[in-house]
Order: sequence, then C-alpha cells, then structure tokens
Amino acid sequence: MRVLKEDIQSIKGIGPKKAASFAKLGIRTIGDALSYYPREYEIQAVPIDISSIQEGLVALCIKWDGSPRVSWIRKGFSTTRIKAKDQTGVVDCIWYNQPYRANQFQSGKKYYVTAKAVKKSSGYQIQNPSVEEYNPDIHGKPQILPVYPLTRGINQRSLRSLIEEALKKLLSYSGNNNIENNNKVSNKDSKNYYKTTYVNNIDKFIASRYGLINKHEAWIKIHKPESKEDLKQAQRRLAFEEFLQLQVTIQYMRNNVQGKKSGMLITDYHNNLKDFLSRLAFKLTSAQEKVLNEVLLDMSNGKVMSRLVQGDVGSGKTVIAAAASFCAAKAGFQAAMMAPTEILARQHYESFKKIFYKQASSENSIKIGLLTGGMKVSEKEELKEELRNGNIQVVIGTHALIQDDVVFNKLGLVITDEQHRFGVRQRALLQDKGELDLPHMMVMSATPIPRTLAHILHGDLDLSTIDSMPPGRIPIKTYHVGSAYRERIYRFVNKHALVGNQTYIVCPLVEESEVMELRSAEEVYQDLSKGVLKDISMGLLHGRQKPTEKEEVVEAFAKGELQVLVSTTVIEVGINVPNAVIMIIENAERFGLSQLHQLRGRVGRGDKPSFCILVSDGRDEKTKQRMKVLVESNDGFEIAEKDLELRGPGELFGLRQHGMPVFQIANPMRDYDLYELAKEAAIEIINDPNKEQLYHLFLEKALETWIDVS
Ligand code: ADP
Ligand code: MG
Repeated sequence: MRVLKEDIQSIKGIGPKKAASFAKLGIRTIGDALSYYPREYEIQAVPIDISSIQEGLVALCIKWDGSPRVSWIRKGFSTTRIKAKDQTGVVDCIWYNQPYRANQFQSGKKYYVTAKAVKKSSGYQIQNPSVEEYNPDIHGKPQILPVYPLTRGINQRSLRSLIEEALKKLLSYSGNNNIENNNKVSNKDSKNYYKTTYVNNIDKFIASRYGLINKHEAWIKIHKPESKEDLKQAQRRLAFEEFLQLQVTIQYMRNNVQGKKSGMLITDYHNNLKDFLSRLAFKLTSAQEKVLNEVLLDMSNGKVMSRLVQGDVGSGKTVIAAAASFCAAKAGFQAAMMAPTEILARQHYESFKKIFYKQASSENSIKIGLLTGGMKVSEKEELKEELRNGNIQVVIGTHALIQDDVVFNKLGLVITDEQHRFGVRQRALLQDKGELDLPHMMVMSATPIPRTLAHILHGDLDLSTIDSMPPGRIPIKTYHVGSAYRERIYRFVNKHALVGNQTYIVCPLVEESEVMELRSAEEVYQDLSKGVLKDISMGLLHGRQKPTEKEEVVEAFAKGELQVLVSTTVIEVGINVPNAVIMIIENAERFGLSQLHQLRGRVGRGDKPSFCILVSDGRDEKTKQRMKVLVESNDGFEIAEKDLELRGPGELFGLRQHGMPVFQIANPMRDYDLYELAKEAAIEIINDPNKEQLYHLFLEKALETWIDVS
C-alpha cells in the first residue's frame, strides 16, 4: 500500500526538523507511525461540575472568569492565577513558574481542564492544570487515550497527533481505493492478490479463518480503542502476525536444516559412552542421562540434530557436551564447541582435557585444541592447519571459530554454549562449516525459561531439559542488604579468606556518562585492596583487559592464589571455581533476576555452604520485590517466571540486547493459544505451493526482523 511508504512530512505541520525527531523513534513513514504502538493507556475523565469538586484529580469544562495575573515572587519563581467558572460556581486556578500561560486564555471560549484539586481555607484550588479547548466529541465522553513511549524532544501530544493524522491518511486511502474487506481466500484469484501488498495478503490469509480483525481495524483499535474489547481484538490481531512471522522463519530454518540429510552417523556410541563414563569422577544424574540419551539418539538416527539443552546453572551441562564430542570424535568426526568468552573457552578446554586425556594410550587418544582471538598468530595458524588436516578432533573456541579461514576436515558436531550470547546467524555460520552435509547442532543454555517461552524463543530447536541438580549441593544462602552493611560484609569475607575460602565481588558495568553513585569494579578493587582487605590477595577482572591478563587473573583465582576476585559480569557465564563460597553483587538492582541467578551460580559449586549477598539501596517496592525473589528461591525456572511477571516478556533476560526475537505486542504467556495457531498457519504457508508468494513476503520481512540479529 503506497500510503504506508509515504514520508511523514506529507502530513501538514511536519517539516524536516520534526521529522528528524520522529526518526529518532524509528518513525519515518506513515506505516512506521501506525506501527508505533502505545505503551499503555489512560482513561480521560468526563468533566464534573465545579460545585462537586473534591480533593484529587478532576476534569472540568469551564470558561475563564476575568484575566490572568502573573506575580513574580522572586527571580525565576512566579505564579499565574485566574478564576474558572461554569454554571455551578467559580474556582481558583494556579500555575507555578509557567508565566507563558497568561497568553493562552481567551474569554468566552470553553476549555477542558484536568488537574489536581487541593483544598485551601478559601475553597478549592486547581493546581497546574493542563488546558485544551473543549470539544464535545472528544471530551464529552470518557476516552481511552494511548500513551506512547517518548524520547527527548517529543511529547505525548505531538505523537498522538502524528498518529491521528497517519490514521486519517490510512482511512482516506482505504476509502478511495476500496480495499476489500472480504477476507475469504479463493484459489481462483490467488495469483492476483499476491501481487498486492504484504498487509493485504496476511489479512486475506488469517483474518476470517482465525476470527481476527483485519490490519486496518487493528491499527485503528490499537491507537484509538473505544473499549477494552477493541483493545483486545487489536492486540490479538497484531500478536498473531508477530507470531506468524517468527514461525515462518523458524519453519523455514527447520526445513533447510532438516531437509538436508546428515549422513553423519555417530555410530557405535554405546561402547564409546561406556568408555567416557568410566573416566568421570562422578555418576551422571538421571536427568543428565536422559538428556545425553536424547542427544546421542539424535546423532545416530540419520537426521540432523538441532537440540537445545537447557539446565539451571550448576546442573552439569558441560559433561553432556564433552560426552557428545567424545562420541562424535570416536566415530571419526570433528566436534567444535563455541563459548561466548575466552575465559569460558579456556575453562571448557581444561575440563575436556581432564576427561579425554585421562587414560589416553597414544593410539586411541582424541586430540583437543583451543582457538581464541587472543592467541598468538602463529599458534592460531598451527591450530587451523591441524583442524584442516583432521589432526585435531575436538576444538573449543570463541567467535574465532566462525572466521572464514577456519576449515574443518570432517565436522560432525557443533556445540554453542550459553546460547543467549549468540545470534541465530552465528550459530548458522558455524554449522555451515560442515562441507557437504550439515553437522549436528547442540545449543546449551543456562537461562532456564518456562517451556512455553522456550518454544517461542528457540522454536527451531528440539528441547532437552536437565531438570535436577547433582547430589550433595547445599543451597546458597542469599541476603539482600543495604550498603550500610558493607563493613560487616568485608569482615565476613576476611574471616572466610583466613580459612581458605574465596569470594567474588561483582560490580555492574559503568558507562562513563553515568552519574557516579555506582561503584565500578576498578574503584572497588582500589578501595578494598588498599583498605579493609589489604591483607588479602585480590584480583581484578574486566572486559577491557587483554586476554592474557584476564587469563592470568582467572587462573590465579582458580588455583586459590587470589582470595577475592573483583569483577564485572564477565564471570557471569560458566566459570567454575568450587572453592569460591561468597558472591557479593554491588548495585544488584541493576541486574535482571535471571542474570543475578546466573551470577549467584558461580558459588555453591563445591561441598561447602555458600553465600550470595545482594547489595542494593534501591528503596522502591519493585526492587525490594525482585530481590526477595532471589532470597527466597534457588530455582532458576521459578526465578525466570517471576522475572517474567515483574518485568514483562519484552524485557525478559535482556532479550533485546541478546538479539532474541522480541515482540511489540505479543505476550508469549498471555497469547499462547495464538502462538499455537500461528505455528499451524506457518507450516501450511511453507508447505503449500499456492502460498509461495505469501511465504516469500513473510521471509523477506522476517529475515530483517529475526535473523540478522547479533
Ligand atoms: P553448568 O550446567 O552450570 O554448566 P557445569 O557443567 O559447570 O554446570 O557443572 C557444575 C559442576 O558440577 C562441575 O564442577 C561438574 O564437574 C559437577 N558435576 C556435573 N555433573 C555432576 C554429577 N552428575 N555429579 C556430581 N557433580 C557433577
Ligand atoms: Mg556451563
């Protein structure tokens, strides 16, 4: 539809300057404006009589009585007063520091006024009212008003009026062009209507079949709902489209991956698994056994595995990855595991080596390699050569693994760890390294999410969940304290250091532009190492250090040479030091609940009692509530659900930053029924040759939206 592509400057009153501010919100065209949805709604009150004013918020329909009086109390401080009247009485109005108001009053005209009424000895006073010319069509009945997210330089009123104008354009356009509201799809005219637009096509496909309103109506009702029912209808229509888009993408990827035959049969895994298990110092939990079984079955049945293994922090995912790599290597393939940080890659490398090299007689040993960006060029070159000629069977690395010049000999299995750090695209890049057939893919995630949400976020993957913990874990004791407790906390750290226990202190990343009430890792380190903890050996770890520097610090901490590690969230993923028993998190309110749970998971990994201390002075109810969730629960799934409740799904786990699909309207929990329908619809679209055009329209749009993230 041409109108959707029209520049917003075609609206009267919007010139280049205003357009530039709207562009900051991503609004450039009429279509953008229509797709800029309200954050929430407010109810506009119906005016009452002056004689029935009570204290609190009021709406009035008045005329001005007399002219305004501005008094300057002192420089920069003024009051502007005027009386307002209706047929039932008169009331005083006052504005503080808004002398320009004095030019806004025309006598004789009716105004709609909303404000707080405050009782004074002389009667009620209306304070700082907002004023609009009275329009009986708008103000005469209660209205649901959209409230849009704003940015600097744009106020609510200008957004409302922009979108109002965009809606008018939409309406006049559909009026003139007679857009069909008949949503039945008939095969006869299918060729023609595919030539029209994205919006129309989707409408035709879904509206009548799923009992949803069409997009035009949805746009009108999401911006100007006349009732709750309107709003619900609009939300459902728009949510459905979002789900459908995601699902078409997912199904597309599934087809592409699973349509190709693997041929990479990881055979004879029973014996190799036995061999592997005999090398472990512990017995797998039954949850681990179940998941490993699912993985090995996938890899031996001729199809390409695409599996997400999720498990709470500490549930023992690494060993699953090691077992799968071991079996792949024994079956004659290479395995590659990609970790989000150097530290983690190195650590996995070490723990794989421990298992793999345990009983290696030289003729049947598996060779493991490490590839990270921080390594010397010559080391990297050597390693790449060994990957190319197949000398190394299992490689662990960072993003360095997906560089073009990394070539495998016979890649059979790809594992990505802590998946939320990688975009879908990066995963695909690594999988692409398999020359002829696609290697199996396993994704590990420690961000436990409710099953419904998992389907939506990782719909292209089968799901395995490690749902119980290795035995003997002692629950981590968690406390929420204010900064006044710091001294006591450090005494606690000191005491533990004396008996050889270690502590993490985590600080949020501080941007230079931020007001410095936050303590950066550097500062905390300086303060403590010169102050209360001066007798303890401490280390500092942050993202800006050189890889070798980081490595040294982590290694020293792991070996117990450092008692305290002050760090940014770089330690969030994976790091495993069983002797660390205290986790202190500064400005804990700055983190998401699931992130805090991840961080906390760095302790409690051994057999000693451990502690997590959340330091936060945040006094608002929400912060207290959020901290309480962590204090009361050690269960990642439960925490994730609470997080979802408290923050809403859009914010969930900082998905936006991590390049996960997020929805503008759809709420995976609320709209789950729609999600299921959208999935059905997507499968139909993909498999029906008549719907090819629709499918391509979707993909085009979806590829922009979902895939090219990261
Ligand atoms: P995560 O799932 O957070 O990646 P890890 O794989 O790092 O967890 O495992 C956490 C710790 O638990 C490691 O020290 C690991 O050796 C140990 N572990 C894993 N599985 C078991 C088990 N079945 N029994 C005892 N300890 C285990
Ligand atoms: Mg891990």
